[in-house]
Amino acid sequence: MSKHKRKGRRKYISDADIISDLQAVAKNMGKKSLTTRDYCRENGAKYCYETMKIRFGSWDTILTKAELELRTCNKKKISDAELINDLQAVAKKMRKKTLKVEDYCKENGAKYIYQTVRMRFKNWNEALKAAGLETKTGYKKHITDIDFIKNLQYVAKNIKKNTLKGKDYCKRNGAKYNYQTVVSRFGSWYIALEKSGLEVRRKNQIVPITSETLLADVARVSKELKMPNLLITEYEKYGNFSTALIREKFGKWNNIKIKAGLKPFPITEDYMQNLFDIWVRYGRKPRGREMVKPFSIGSYVRKFGSWKNALKTFQEYVNHENNNDVDDHGNISLRLQFMALKRDNFSCNKCGCISTEVPLVVKHIIPIDKGGKTGIENLETICNRCIEQQNNRRNIRNQQQDFR
Ligand SMILES: [Zn+2]
Repeated sequence: MSKHKRKGRRKYISDADIISDLQAVAKNMGKKSLTTRDYCRENGAKYCYETMKIRFGSWDTILTKAELELRTCNKKKISDAELINDLQAVAKKMRKKTLKVEDYCKENGAKYIYQTVRMRFKNWNEALKAAGLETKTGYKKHITDIDFIKNLQYVAKNIKKNTLKGKDYCKRNGAKYNYQTVVSRFGSWYIALEKSGLEVRRKNQIVPITSETLLADVARVSKELKMPNLLITEYEKYGNFSTALIREKFGKWNNIKIKAGLKPFPITEDYMQNLFDIWVRYGRKPRGREMVKPFSIGSYVRKFGSWKNALKTFQEYVNHENNNDVDDHGNISLRLQFMALKRDNFSCNKCGCISTEVPLVVKHIIPIDKGGKTGIENLETICNRCIEQQNNRRNIRNQQQDFR
């Protein structure tokens, strides 16, 4: 049964599946609330909490949807009026009629964190409205779900298809937005298709998947992400097929990478990259139990002798001076990325959020194609949410230019 399910497309997990699993774990533990750490396999969790966070945006949103209590009780003690008063006070102090997210910070006298405000009022614009401040709709037009849906439908119609693959959604076919922006808005490409009324290939629709199709999809993701060293975890996020299926056909992940013409790499780098990812996710040194398959603690112990040794190897790895701070594809070395993250305290330079809230990336301040150099001084830590906002703004600017 489960073997049958694995064939075909990745199994679609609905929001309801996730919510009921969360409730089951809470019930199992006899708790009214759950921390991210509670939600683990040992307590009966079925899904990875990262997947859930990508789907729902934040842990608190998930808790709310599952009708569980939020983590800290003092969050509830802050009333709407207090938040509104504080917003108004900051605006008054800055002599502004509106506030940007980044204005609402300690330096300007903010008492709370902007996430609290946003959580309470659903989004920043709603918070501004509630406080009687001007909203920024003028220059920062928000792209609604409907905008995305209409565009997906348009592209599908344009190429005369009733479903869309990630690669079909491109400028040439009339796509206005970025594939990744769509994915991060809806949580997954399939949800986006579903909401657009387009055909989603379900597991019970038997679609013969050839090795060539799989290879092409791996190559596509690698190209789109500009990651010649594509990791299995990245493919899981952006690929069209399940990694179980790939493993079934090709065995090791490295095998398919070689066949797809990607750069296979010494397995140590895979381990280091994964350790780096987890370190960034938590903004601190990972604990053994936080390591998940295929890079479980056991696999580190087997590879490096002990967990301590694995961490030591990592420290040496990121401190190792080398000349290859940037590879042929413009990717920033792990060492430089780690330096930048450490300097920025593992938090977003634009909005200050930390990696446990939104995934962080290190990018060039001045892009390389505009003459920027790959050095620590031209790198900044920024969160996916801020990147999405930047992309949206750029899209709008481009659209406005089209009308001129
Ligand atoms: Zn940010």
